[in-house]
Amino acid sequence: MNIEDYKKRIDALLDPCEDEMFALLEDFVNMDTFSFDADDVNKLGQKITNWLKDAHFYTSQLSKVGIPENETWLHGLGDVFMAKSHKTSEPGIGFIAHMDTVFPRGTAKARPFYLDKVNDIATGPGVADMKAGIIANMFAARALKQANIMPCPMTLMFSPDEELGSPTASKQLAIHLKGARAIMCAEPGGVGGFVTLSRKGSGHIHLQVQGVSAHAGRNYSDGSSAIIELAHKTLMINELLDLSKSKTVNTGLISGGTSANSISPWAESRIHLTYQTLAEGKELVRKIQEITDQVFVKGTVSSMSGGLRLYPLERTENGDKLFDIAHEVAARLGIELKGQHYESAAESGFCSSDLGIPTLCCMGPEGDHIHTSKEFMLPSTLLQRTKFIALTALQSAMYFNKK
Ligand SMILES: [Zn+2]
Repeated sequence: MNIEDYKKRIDALLDPCEDEMFALLEDFVNMDTFSFDADDVNKLGQKITNWLKDAHFYTSQLSKVGIPENETWLHGLGDVFMAKSHKTSEPGIGFIAHMDTVFPRGTAKARPFYLDKVNDIATGPGVADMKAGIIANMFAARALKQANIMPCPMTLMFSPDEELGSPTASKQLAIHLKGARAIMCAEPGGVGGFVTLSRKGSGHIHLQVQGVSAHAGRNYSDGSSAIIELAHKTLMINELLDLSKSKTVNTGLISGGTSANSISPWAESRIHLTYQTLAEGKELVRKIQEITDQVFVKGTVSSMSGGLRLYPLERTENGDKLFDIAHEVAARLGIELKGQHYESAAESGFCSSDLGIPTLCCMGPEGDHIHTSKEFMLPSTLLQRTKFIALTALQSAMYFNKK
């Protein structure tokens, strides 16, 4: 069979599903899934995996792995859900999407899903980022399974904490997608046929300083100020900022101390990083660790936790080949596919940079103004982008036939 024959098979399977897709999208958008509300996120995960189970996928809700001792708060987040077309451990083609949104509980009730097909607009919290992408991955994978045309297994992963930098999901992606032939990431496509070829990476660091308290007037020399220590460190860390290389280091939160007339016994800050390459990101974390280990105020003790979160999506030879494959598929679907660079991070970068798998980002239905109340998705692209994901998955499974 050639690509035209495959397209006919996929068209025949997906064309009758459009109403079902919109109904499920309405259902998903009207479920709040804020990153910090584990029960809400898990409820969506169960809905997704039940649907895929009905489509004869092997599904699981994964228990957390590799949580650092100094980041116990991560245990309170939702779980990663997974669906596999086969029982084997070989991932084959990976499909990634995140379930969490940046909108707190109550948002869906305040501004529920709204659909206007005539004017080609759909709105609601997370409609583009990325409930529509979840639907696209689900229907694309089901159609490929029904058509029985995939030359390898399919593994679908649904993350609970991407908006926090995937601190738990990245551990599962590393386990279950290792060795995948290629990865389809259904983050929202850019309006006008855009996918994303490169993105920066992110990092989150929590810096804590322990000082020694003393009366600031009577026993000054008995104390060790955590605030002065943190101030020295903060200025040194700021020296790592290099906008000419698009490298950002931002101390965005700071607190400490007990009273103005006490030497501060504690201080802490939260630092966010972005960088172009994984090597640059690792270097930034190494330098911040060095600064953390230096002592400016005798008697203080400092520690840091966190580190790199979502790795950058870097251009690679195989990644560019995947874009070529996608470009050809898109042309058959009437899309003139274009690549773009994003200054923000996503899970696609982790899969590409850390796992070394060709990954294409922003394959999902097109939309914009994500993370705001003006977020929208173009309904005309829901079915089209689903077919795009299905056929690109198929063509790349054949091209990247390593196993
Ligand atoms: Zn997203």
